[in-house]
Amino acid sequence: MKKTTTHNGNLLSSFFCNIFGHKYIVSKKVTHHIKEYKCAHCQMQVTTDVTGHLSELTPELQEINDTLEDIFNKKHRANANQQVA
Ligand SMILES: [Zn+2]
Repeated sequence: MKKTTTHNGNLLSSFFCNIFGHKYIVSKKVTHHIKEYKCAHCQMQVTTDVTGHLSELTPELQEINDTLEDIFNKKHRANANQQVA
């Protein structure tokens, strides 16, 4: 299934990205090491994968990230509450 929503701006941005490369900005911090990024020009989404490289944010990776984020947040909260002297 391919999205066929091709706005004129997006098409131009994609062209721009093909030449100059994407301009990724952090869209979501999943863990300390894994973040999701979105291209400021064409809105393409990528994420840090297990090898530390950027991969296109597929539904599978999105699901993994959501799970990781959930675990990370729980762990983080547990640690914050655990103020043992
Ligand atoms: Zn781009």
